[in-house]
Amino acid sequence: MFSKILIANRGEIAVRIIRACRELGVRSVAVYSDADAGAPHVREADEAVHIGPPPSSESYLKGDRIIEAARRVGAEAIHPGYGFLSEREWFARAVRDAGLVFIGPPAEAIAAMGSKTAARQLAIAANVPVVPGTTEPLRDADEAREIAERFGYPVLLKAAAGGGGKGMRVVRESGELASSLETARREAKNAFGDDAVYVEKYITGPRHVEIQVLGDQHGTMLSLNERECSVQRRHQKMIEEAPSVAVSPALRRRMGETAVRAASAAGYTNAGTCEFLLDADGNFYFLEMNTRLQVEHPVTEFVTGIDLVQWQIRIAAGERLPFKQEEIVPRGWAIECRITSEDPANGFLPSTGKISYLHLPSGPGVRWDGGIEVGSEVGLFYDPMLAKLIVHAPTRDAAVERMHRALLELTIEGVESSRDFHLRVMEDAEFRAGDISIQWLERRLESLVNAAPSADIRTAAAIAALIADRDRHAPRRAAANGSSGTGATPSGPTADAWTRVARLEALR
Ligand code: ADP
Repeated sequence: MFSKILIANRGEIAVRIIRACRELGVRSVAVYSDADAGAPHVREADEAVHIGPPPSSESYLKGDRIIEAARRVGAEAIHPGYGFLSEREWFARAVRDAGLVFIGPPAEAIAAMGSKTAARQLAIAANVPVVPGTTEPLRDADEAREIAERFGYPVLLKAAAGGGGKGMRVVRESGELASSLETARREAKNAFGDDAVYVEKYITGPRHVEIQVLGDQHGTMLSLNERECSVQRRHQKMIEEAPSVAVSPALRRRMGETAVRAASAAGYTNAGTCEFLLDADGNFYFLEMNTRLQVEHPVTEFVTGIDLVQWQIRIAAGERLPFKQEEIVPRGWAIECRITSEDPANGFLPSTGKISYLHLPSGPGVRWDGGIEVGSEVGLFYDPMLAKLIVHAPTRDAAVERMHRALLELTIEGVESSRDFHLRVMEDAEFRAGDISIQWLERRLESLVNAAPSADIRTAAAIAALIADRDRHAPRRAAANGSSGTGATPSGPTADAWTRVARLEALR
């Protein structure tokens, strides 16, 4: 086992990796930009190295500087987390060339799966079904039109180097093709420095179901089964769960075998994810492989009992996987909500500010993977994801109730957050019935955002506001107001809140 690992990331995922290191008895080294000097990941790590100014291009993307830091502090390995340098082939190679271990797949596997077009070619060769479409970048709009006519509209233009839903354009008719191609190319060039765009048939109404794989360096490659990530906004996941209501044991086995075949064809080791679209008839099509740890890995950890981050580290250190495929059976149900500093009431506009109050949910089956605390500055330099709230329960119904309860306990003040939005999803009849597809949220977004808050949400909000006010300004005022009132007797959620705060005060 390694004695020291450098973590080339920030926020919740850096904290998550530090936790894994500590449980393995490995020392952790954080890196940080000026903006993160006081961040939780810096304090939690055993050591920390400053790597530059706030923009990620000057800090968290400075691979050479990070490798140099690792050598200086005597780390033997680098964990890239997700995002930033995690899927850069050159970085994995540079880490290896520096005599260090990259905690992830070999650089060659990242290259094989890195471009969506290359991954599609590899998948086809490995007899893995892919979404109908091309495997070469488009030359021009005429070629795009010709191909679109062959598949039939709507089609989807996609950046070969794509990620995070960027460089993707749905085209519904030939008149839109030329301008959409131009936009997709521009977006791809800006985001990835590569304007290669190809075309896929746009599939209506499927689910996004992905398979987590884990492979060691001794030839064992396992499927850790599926996650359902259909609740998406602008092709980006917001809520994930495991297992999926749409996956039977037989389909699970077929999808798992397919993902293992695709990963093995790429010479893959360590943790990775094959993403598929699954249609209502049980047909599934390979989308791409993410050659890193996924944001949503905790739902798999809950239902398999396997610590993915610890196993990433163990595999990189040369250990063998001790599990057998048939032992990996989902137990119970897990759901994850991404808690972002975005304002759902305002078109999910990123919100900035200082976290002034934070109350975290806890209790049975609740996990909080966060990278914020009171006093954290939330700016615009980095991704708006503040934390992930994950729950585990015996059944899906119980997990939805548990997530609802946990969200009610959560209070974040100082920035707008996606919390209330998630509460409304948990209360939604279609979501509760598991009746979702990748287009579900776009269709329901407005009604969910504008829905009148439930009594539970209003009570929780009122309690939060009263407690925050009490803690900040006047320890006794809230309760005094609550008991004496101002004449009219409050009723409904506000009255509930007053009563509960008064009870808290009495207990003090
Ligand atoms: P990225 O790498 O940018 O995340 P993906 O290929 O993983 O792009 O796709 C992101 C999401 O976009 C998918 O989860 C799915 O919801 C949607 N999507 C991608 N390809 C298609 C397609 N051919 N038809 C319909 N939706 C698609």
